[in-house]
Amino acid sequence: MAEEKEPSPAEEEKKSEAQWLTAQAAASFLGITVGRLDHLRRNGQIAAKKVGWFSYQYDVNVLMAYANRLAGGHQSSEPTAESTSQSTSTLQEAVTQMPTPARKEVYADDADKRPIVRMANAILVSGIEAGASDISLESDRTHVRVRIRVDGTLQELLAIPNYVETALINRYLVMAELNPSTRRPQQGVFSVLHGETHLNLRVSYLPILRGSKLAMRLYDCTNLPSVWDLGMSEDIGSEIGSVATYENGLILFVGSPGEGATTTAFAFLKGLNTPERYLCTLEEQMSYSVEGLSQIYWKPQNNLTPQTILPTLLRQDPDILFVGDIDTAENLEFALQVAEQGITVIATLHAPDSVHALFRLMRLGVSSERLQSVLRCICAQRLVRKICPNCKTAVTVETGEITYKGVGCATCQNRGYKGRTAVFEILWMNRVIGEALSLSSSYLTIQEIALANRLRPFQTTIREMIGEGTIAYEEGIAVSYG
Ligand SMILES: [Zn+2]
Repeated sequence: MAEEKEPSPAEEEKKSEAQWLTAQAAASFLGITVGRLDHLRRNGQIAAKKVGWFSYQYDVNVLMAYANRLAGGHQSSEPTAESTSQSTSTLQEAVTQMPTPARKEVYADDADKRPIVRMANAILVSGIEAGASDISLESDRTHVRVRIRVDGTLQELLAIPNYVETALINRYLVMAELNPSTRRPQQGVFSVLHGETHLNLRVSYLPILRGSKLAMRLYDCTNLPSVWDLGMSEDIGSEIGSVATYENGLILFVGSPGEGATTTAFAFLKGLNTPERYLCTLEEQMSYSVEGLSQIYWKPQNNLTPQTILPTLLRQDPDILFVGDIDTAENLEFALQVAEQGITVIATLHAPDSVHALFRLMRLGVSSERLQSVLRCICAQRLVRKICPNCKTAVTVETGEITYKGVGCATCQNRGYKGRTAVFEILWMNRVIGEALSLSSSYLTIQEIALANRLRPFQTTIREMIGEGTIAYEEGIAVSYG
């Protein structure tokens, strides 16, 4: 069919209204990307009728034929980055549909690209349905290992012959708008809709000895928990909430990487998100997207950095600003500057506990006087695996205490654990801590002062949780001293 071929008036009349769809509607109906439609139109593979500014109509019958041809005769739609839910393939099906090494053109050609797209989507769907927090792909000598992290434990999902490695990794890189042609460390983001669930995936790519390592962190935006769901007690939650509302200053959520500090910070923001407050988030990489928040992502390559955003941001008068990862001196300085202007700043920082977080802030170049005047509190957290309620059994540990553990059952896949909860440690900043910091006091001295000022260390809470039978003794020990 010729490009831009206009049907004759008589032909046009024959077509019912329903047979013509605009590009957007056609794309969502058949799962073909709008970009793909445009490509086909430019190549004359399908005829389109221009109806207005950048609005094209497509004959639905022609599109259906195209979609069927792509699907190899099956009624199917082309899964896109936004619609893995449309992928009906099971993992096994996807594996059997993988191209053989002889068909090297898989990625370039449309018809052959589909198995890779299905494979990539099936891996995502398996991870999402297993409740994974991370999905990783790692080259090995003969295979690409696909692993997922569920409740903090890595498990192998499958191993794929490594001749598909490049195509599969490239598929994810393209989804995250990264450059597949450069083998350099890269980071990006893409979103998927699985059923009713909207997830954002942060993608990081690293070249390794035998090929590539691709890690994806999943952020379930639809089921973002509340702080109470995360295990925060009502008095602590309310107290931090009232500091955020009435006192301004800096509130820090800290944890080691993967310990869920970002989730807690967003759970907090969700709780503070009312129509009378203007909440803004500023991150380098997208994590959660939450309705009602103004979310900004900085791009140094476009000169869009926290510092260049600051003047405009302040004019917009936000009540609460979230700054993701203040692990660099520039980002920390930005967060402090905003907080010093009377705006509540909620930020995340990587540190194993609250006292270590203070030392990290000092090492990033903040004076103790400044911390004392701006910092309100540090909410540190660690994640612990909960005992599977289905196979919970009383056991006596070395110390003679009666505790509980999961002995393993079908519900927990014989792990004895089911789900995780967070343990919190809140450090309230005060003058005495500020003075101790200015005197370069030791960790233990600062911890002692903080303990006198209501700090409940992780270990105390964990001991209680072991006693209550929420977590196993071994898990408690590992998390306390891990
Ligand atoms: Zn169990």
